[in-house]
Amino acid sequence: MQFHLESKGIDFTSTLTDTQVRERLSTKRTEFAQSLYNRREWSDKQRAWAHYIVQEQPRCAFDFSPLLRMIRSAQSKGAKRITIRFTDFILKLSNDKIAVLDHQTQYNPKFDAVTNIFYGYIGEEETTVTNPSVITALKLASADPLSAAVEYGRASGSCACCGKKLTDEQSMRLGIGPVCAKKYGLA
Ligand SMILES: [Zn+2]
Repeated sequence: MQFHLESKGIDFTSTLTDTQVRERLSTKRTEFAQSLYNRREWSDKQRAWAHYIVQEQPRCAFDFSPLLRMIRSAQSKGAKRITIRFTDFILKLSNDKIAVLDHQTQYNPKFDAVTNIFYGYIGEEETTVTNPSVITALKLASADPLSAAVEYGRASGSCACCGKKLTDEQSMRLGIGPVCAKKYGLA
């Protein structure tokens, strides 16, 4: 069966029957999956969603522990508003979750404000980032998070944590300002 998901702007093929989709939905924990499971009849749109979510590519299974540790150790030092900038993305602790953002901003109707483009979360339990180039950048940075952050700071001339312009020579070499380095435990 061929499906079109308007809101995602994608076309996809499903080889599953509705019965198989229902079986798979029953094992999914999300509210959305449960609500689809509990409906006896599906509209075309609901059917497309049901087929889509049971076949969605498995979430990225890559272990981003080094990046997670970098954020969690700053958190354990009591740092507030934790943000670490890398060349291709930004990690930001938000409600105890580690959000992956772009450097670019755009208008976000949800908050009626201009915010950084959001790619998803990386986490101990699950990673929801699906953009392949962002995953690649995360993997690269995860191999050596501190060096990756330092590289960003040096190249941009701004602190890899707070984003302020680095002024003295030593901070420029370290890519992280002295205040943030101490606060984040990266000194
Ligand atoms: Zn800073």
